[in-house]
Amino acid sequence: MKVFNKQAIIEILKTNARNDRLFALADAVRKEFVGDEVHLRGLIEFSNICKRTCKYCGLRYENKNLERYRISPEDIVFYANKAVQMGYKTVVLQSGEDEFYNAKKLADIVKEIKKSDIAVTLSVGEMSFEDYKLLKDAGADRYLLRIETTDKELYKKMHPNMSFENRIRCLRDLKKLGYEVGTGCLVGLKGQTIESLADDILFFKEINADMVGIGPFISNPDTPLKDAPNGDFTLALKVMALTRIVMKNINIPATTAMETLNPNGRIIALKSGANVVMPNVTSKEYRKKYEIYPGKICINENPEQCRGCIENKIKSIGRTIGADKGFRNK
Ligand code: SAH
Repeated sequence: MKVFNKQAIIEILKTNARNDRLFALADAVRKEFVGDEVHLRGLIEFSNICKRTCKYCGLRYENKNLERYRISPEDIVFYANKAVQMGYKTVVLQSGEDEFYNAKKLADIVKEIKKSDIAVTLSVGEMSFEDYKLLKDAGADRYLLRIETTDKELYKKMHPNMSFENRIRCLRDLKKLGYEVGTGCLVGLKGQTIESLADDILFFKEINADMVGIGPFISNPDTPLKDAPNGDFTLALKVMALTRIVMKNINIPATTAMETLNPNGRIIALKSGANVVMPNVTSKEYRKKYEIYPGKICINENPEQCRGCIENKIKSIGRTIGADKGFRNK
């Protein structure tokens, strides 16, 4: 295939005629650069309290229809240890931007979890360089912070009182501090163009992201975007496949949002460039309440069921479960 400059990416995104070839190529690149192992990351959604008002997200501060929860520090460590026992080599701590969980409190939790031989990924939003440093020094290995969109105007519309420049600053600081950095975008935001999706892919390359998560936008009735249509599954899959082809050796999750739009979404993603899955390791009581968007999968499962279910699916397509922490292949 030809060089993947912006124009080429736009053309591929605009036509569906050669999708099968695109997905096959992304799968071949995945196999060559990261192999057949699928890395499982145990996800702990520890607080749905958030000070932000992102227009698409159900956790937004202004959503009064969401019952809020915050898992205690002791219980976060409990779930992390449970993940270790279940064989996970990474835990991901994700939350809204909850001021109770400042860097100091999170650093203590990270230190406690790091007593086990497990990688810790954080996904708790924007912080200062000093806070990110505190968390890195406490032992955090990776950080997830999606840019969401590189279209500055659209970014502004979607994120009242937030700054695109600050989000970029965060990503650069995280890189500087030696984190493995994950970013990514939403596909299908109202007003988003194909051109800007091509820019998103080139942005991942420019900042040399170690991980990229792509998910279709899913309309949430408790947000200002309640009347906006869902993003397109195939388009999100294409953005993901192109990201694999352009970035080669990075880690790419088959996202939960993809499975929400297509009952076999994660397996399809794993066959189109993805090599990571993030099963939930918290109890039922919290899953339902971490309602970023409606229809989230596995909200009635327990952690053991989730792990077993996805392991079987992964093995059924001839792939294996990653045996180590699954850092980026250098
Ligand atoms: N507070 C953290 C974690 C955000 S939640 C942070 O700022 O990084 C994780 C991701 O969920 C977000 O980055 C966003 O891309 C995605 N998300 C939020 N609302 C969504 C929706 N309605 N549909 C699909 N994905 C959504």
